[in-house]
Amino acid sequence: MSTGFFNVPEPVNEPVLSYAPGSKEKKEIKAKLAELRGKQLDVPMYIGGEEIKTDRKLPMSPPHDHQHILGYFSEGDASHVEQAVNAALGAKDAWEEMAWEQRAAIFLKAADLIAGPYRAEINAATMLGQSKTVFQAEIDSACEIIDFLRFNVQYMTQIYSEQPQSAPGIWNRLEQRPLEGFVFAITPFNFTAIAGNLPAAPALMGNTVVWKPSYTQIYSARVLMEVFKEAGVPDGVINLIYVDGPVAGEVIFNHPDFAGLHFTGSTGVFQQLWKTIGNNIHKYKTYPRIVGETGGKDFVLAHKSADPQEVATGLIRGAFEFQGQKCSAASRAYIPANIWEDVKKYMLADLEEIKMGGPEDFTNFVTAVIDERSFDKIATYIDEAKASPLVEVVAGGNYDKSKGYFVEPTILKAEDNQYTTMCEEIFGPVLTVYVYDTEFFEEAIYMVNNTSPYALTGAIFSKDRYAIELATKKLKHAAGNFYINDKPTGAVVGQQPFGGSRASGTNDKAGSMLNLLRWVSPRTIKETFVPPTDYKYPFLGEE
Ligand code: NAD
Repeated sequence: MSTGFFNVPEPVNEPVLSYAPGSKEKKEIKAKLAELRGKQLDVPMYIGGEEIKTDRKLPMSPPHDHQHILGYFSEGDASHVEQAVNAALGAKDAWEEMAWEQRAAIFLKAADLIAGPYRAEINAATMLGQSKTVFQAEIDSACEIIDFLRFNVQYMTQIYSEQPQSAPGIWNRLEQRPLEGFVFAITPFNFTAIAGNLPAAPALMGNTVVWKPSYTQIYSARVLMEVFKEAGVPDGVINLIYVDGPVAGEVIFNHPDFAGLHFTGSTGVFQQLWKTIGNNIHKYKTYPRIVGETGGKDFVLAHKSADPQEVATGLIRGAFEFQGQKCSAASRAYIPANIWEDVKKYMLADLEEIKMGGPEDFTNFVTAVIDERSFDKIATYIDEAKASPLVEVVAGGNYDKSKGYFVEPTILKAEDNQYTTMCEEIFGPVLTVYVYDTEFFEEAIYMVNNTSPYALTGAIFSKDRYAIELATKKLKHAAGNFYINDKPTGAVVGQQPFGGSRASGTNDKAGSMLNLLRWVSPRTIKETFVPPTDYKYPFLGEE
């Protein structure tokens, strides 16, 4: 029982540590990387209060060093999905009855654990398991998840405090009930923070969750689960299973208590899941909430007034950090002819300097892509481009998977603005540039808007305010996150709530109040203090 209207600590964005030579954090993470490399983990599933291991052990390896084995995880089957659903439903009553400030305290504690004692471990796990540089790990697996957890607690209290008016003699109240059933969180490989937020956000709002991560993110998912447990998330509230997607889907999407899907991943998978849910709609007790943030084909549009150096830096960072494996990565650029040669010169100069290799060597800016399937897919796009008379390979174009899945940062220049790599999501370090006639800015805007089905992120570079205004208006629906004179990546919780529309997702903006609203179902309560005792309204009297 709450006996006070509590204020929660005011969230501020977690400071990004520098990992500069000689820094305390650099020493700590180097030691943690060596420690984790020196042992093999046996990672269980976490269902209810149990840690479950199976005979089917699958290896986990660094993408930049695929012969090394970091450990094994236990793959589960349909019986484990059923067990996880039962654990979630079993934990539900107690969890949703728990006072909100207790739930808040648990997730605030989780944030502090990651900010402090678990910081090196979660970053090292993300560096080794997903091949992120220390900086990419720090902004993801430390800062972003900490921000999600702290800001969401504040958004929760804002949601709860939003109350209706009351006329004289009555009291209207609004309560935000958790969904009636369990939530299924399906998470991608590319952000540890998203993997943590997708189960944590519905759980914070009083729901219980079955969480299925990507197999290539399990190495850091384990750390998140350890944090949740230490922070006090009760058994059964978040259940972590390693089961093939369709096997898990078969159980969950046929379950009458399935109440919501919190998904981040590719557009094709999301559309498939939506169809399945639609086909099964008659089986559910409630209409499931469907939240999905999916693919992108994110653009950079430069105006003739843009500074070529600024454009080049935005493209190098936007396209090649984390090997272009961000949903927000710049992957198509529209550059006017008057500045193209300079933009190209600056990008080539940067690429001369940029080193590629494993993230344990801090001098590397580019590391490996996530797995062989992804490597082969990217290599196919590059080979096709090399063979096409419509494409010039401006930089890169080489790849090698002998030790790790390394693809050189590659810049293609397409003569056809509808060339495949201008339209399709590649999810690798490949940027395609279309050089347009300097005076055809409006035509370039039209191309940006009509080339791909996605609408996640995009950027305009310009010194001319009319051009900025025009692009901002005309590209209203082309991106859920729009940047002016900045790269299209690097959204920060509490500052640029993230999500796109069109084929890029439901745009429920992770890390905002809008997302949390999807995990509750409001109940309005009207109480009349002195109820009437006569049914007759005054109009019933004739004279
Ligand atoms: P993916 O679609 O391959 O996998 C995502 C998750 O879905 C994984 O856990 C996977 O195992 C699961 N899955 C796959 N098929 C399934 C099925 N039939 N049933 C149930 N689950 C299934 O995506 P990925 O390669 O892990 O991540 C990259 C994709 O995610 C890119 O398209 C990227 O744009 C997108 N992404 C989007 C955002 C965003 O906020 N919009 C953020 C990160 C990543």
